[in-house]
Amino acid sequence: MITFQNLSLPANLLENLTSLGYEQPTPIQEQTIPLLRENKDLIAQAKTGSGKTLAFLLPLILKLDEAEHFPQALIIAPTRELCEQIAGEANKLARYKKDVKVTTLYGGTSLTKQVASLEKGADILIGTPGRLLDHFSRKTIHLGQINTLILDEADRMLDMGFADDILKLVSNLPKKRQSILFSATYPENIDKLTKVILKNPTEVKIASKEKEVAIEEFVYEVEDKDKALLTTLKHFQPNLALIFCNTKIKTAEVSHMLQGQGFDVATLNGDLEQYERQEMLLQFTNGSLPVLVATDLAARGLDIENIDLVINYDTPMKTEDYTHRIGRTGRADKSGLAVTLCDTYGLGKLSEIKPKLQAKKISTLSPNKNFYMQGEVATLCIDGGKKKKVRAGDILGTLCKDIGINGKDIGKINIYQSSSYVAIKKTVIKKAFTGLKNGKIKGKNLRVWWLD
Ligand code: AMP
Repeated sequence: MITFQNLSLPANLLENLTSLGYEQPTPIQEQTIPLLRENKDLIAQAKTGSGKTLAFLLPLILKLDEAEHFPQALIIAPTRELCEQIAGEANKLARYKKDVKVTTLYGGTSLTKQVASLEKGADILIGTPGRLLDHFSRKTIHLGQINTLILDEADRMLDMGFADDILKLVSNLPKKRQSILFSATYPENIDKLTKVILKNPTEVKIASKEKEVAIEEFVYEVEDKDKALLTTLKHFQPNLALIFCNTKIKTAEVSHMLQGQGFDVATLNGDLEQYERQEMLLQFTNGSLPVLVATDLAARGLDIENIDLVINYDTPMKTEDYTHRIGRTGRADKSGLAVTLCDTYGLGKLSEIKPKLQAKKISTLSPNKNFYMQGEVATLCIDGGKKKKVRAGDILGTLCKDIGINGKDIGKINIYQSSSYVAIKKTVIKKAFTGLKNGKIKGKNLRVWWLD
């Protein structure tokens, strides 16, 4: 069994990995970390959930030069959510170094704020192709010192039509650099990127068979999809369910329908502002809104544990989309369930993209009509985060010591740059809300509001 110790890493990094609970490298980490530390170009086939982010971040953080003032690494990823996930992992991993600055650059948030943040210095830039190119044309990012380029989920970026933007960006990077490409699949047109970007790359491929068997797949032939969706939820009775629709409008309609039936629902689609997406995901993961209705935006990159049921309300258009959607369940070695609801059109589509799956009649399910999915907790938002030096312990202290809330009634606490969120049992949330509104956190009066 290989351990992180076998990879000859510095003691303070090993300590940090232990404090993060990473005991042993995953197969992709075991194979790629030594190659990347030799500064080789690499093309790796690995899915989210395999530990791929740490695989490329660890060698990168090791080689960062703390004396350099300009950005040294550029990570290009398809979505804002994935950029944030990579940045979160990079910040945790770089804790053992003195001053590593990670900056995310994606659309849907203010350019001015991003420029202000860039002016304070950045070592690692993580962004979506369009917004990165935007900054490059405005000369607000300096790419002259970039020595590592990482493309994450390259297949997804090709799907989204980002190839030209990526190539434009890359043509402005120093020729002497290490280039790394991670992709869950290798579509034919991936050559478009690999040929131009990588130099004699080593190829690494990780089979992900175990994960696939852990997901049970069912297909139901249905006439009324809304009714079938309720039947499915009430039969399988999940704790956390993710429902995929093909369009933004449909996500809104399905959420509305479920809310009308007494379910607590979050909606995620590209019409939402970045902060709204963050709040939706947060309420889903902390259990306030245990159902998430989303477009394919949520199909890739998101790493949320404990989703026990994924439902395709609409049949996906491509095999890859099907794979990515159902891959949101059965994570971290837990088993998962995936259900696809097909009307006549959907059955035709499914026979093209997943010909082996057989449909059953929805009438074979036995729904429990008294089953609903409602959050035991709700979320309060506090107008202060890392910038005001608010920590989870400060919020916990005020809630327990000053307001008299029992620790067992307090759920997940998330601290962001400018705001913090705390999940609280609905039975005591009024008391917590009034107490926080009138009280102080870290000696400061901070505004508090209730998310719904
Ligand atoms: P990824 O495939 O990069 O999306 O990672 C999936 C999850 O695995 C993330 O939550 C990581 O924090 C976690 N992870 C990555 N490497 C390890 C490791 N060596 N041991 C345990 N967990 C890990």
